[in-house]
Amino acid sequence: MTIYNLGSINIDHVYRLPALPRPGETLHAQSYAQGLGGKGANQSVAAARAGADVVHLGAMAASDGWVLGRLAEAGVQTSAIARLPDIATGHAIILVDTAGENSIVLHGGANLALPAALASGIGFGPDDILLMQNETNLQAETAALARRAGARVIYSAAPFSIAALREVLPHVSILSVNEIEARDTFAAFGEDLPVEGLLVTRGAEGAEFRDLRGGQAWHQPAFAVEAVDTTGAGDCFTGWFAAGLARGENPPTALRHAAAAAALQVTRRGAGDAMPDRTEVLAFLK
Ligand code: ATP
Repeated sequence: MTIYNLGSINIDHVYRLPALPRPGETLHAQSYAQGLGGKGANQSVAAARAGADVVHLGAMAASDGWVLGRLAEAGVQTSAIARLPDIATGHAIILVDTAGENSIVLHGGANLALPAALASGIGFGPDDILLMQNETNLQAETAALARRAGARVIYSAAPFSIAALREVLPHVSILSVNEIEARDTFAAFGEDLPVEGLLVTRGAEGAEFRDLRGGQAWHQPAFAVEAVDTTGAGDCFTGWFAAGLARGENPPTALRHAAAAAALQVTRRGAGDAMPDRTEVLAFLK
């Protein structure tokens, strides 16, 4: 049972400054850090640290080999990541001031140039899961391919786009959204969504999963922790939830593990690098 994750790979460049620069202003940063980011890479790392067999489907510049090393260290299989010439690896320039306010410039780069052969070369099986977010091209084609093979498709509708969701929704088994995305989804498509399951995360309010076929719903409260950085909490939750389903857990168990993982994740700085592993999560739940 493999999780194929069609997703973005970003390099996050994080600069800390006393204040965010105004138009025309040049400021010295107090510090600089480089990290692994992108919703796709974050979810791959989360699911792999949860113990799932994860194959990342994505693309990056041929020159950024260290990124592959970081993914592989986390246990993600990187052989289906295309190395493209003459294009930048997706990246984010993140400016953070002393109050924690931020400004972010995102460049999709290679994430938006995934070669079509990437998906058509995968032999999806009925036990597999295709995980996706809205930061790459090839979403609808790959989802259709996976569903034809009987695989389940879990889609994180973020960054939210009605047009992207409309295209992919007919192929989605489980839709994963935060509270704001849920509201936008219902406004655009109505409450009667054509999916089997709906996962809604509500920050410190917890999360719920609705089995829309069976008519059951489960709520999972968030664990009380001291949050220092909630970047990537949703990715942590979705990655862990997908890993739970892949190992055959029922929804309430998968929810509980995902909530514990996300609680640990928000106590640490960073996104992909802050994902907890299974040992940490089980120790937290003891
Ligand atoms: P992001 O965009 O920052 O990745 P998101 O909006 O997609 O986040 P949230 O709904 O904010 O996702 O958070 C996902 C899950 O993370 C929540 O359902 C909860 O389990 C956990 N979580 C988030 N914030 C906290 C917090 N302050 N304390 C404990 N758990 C939290």
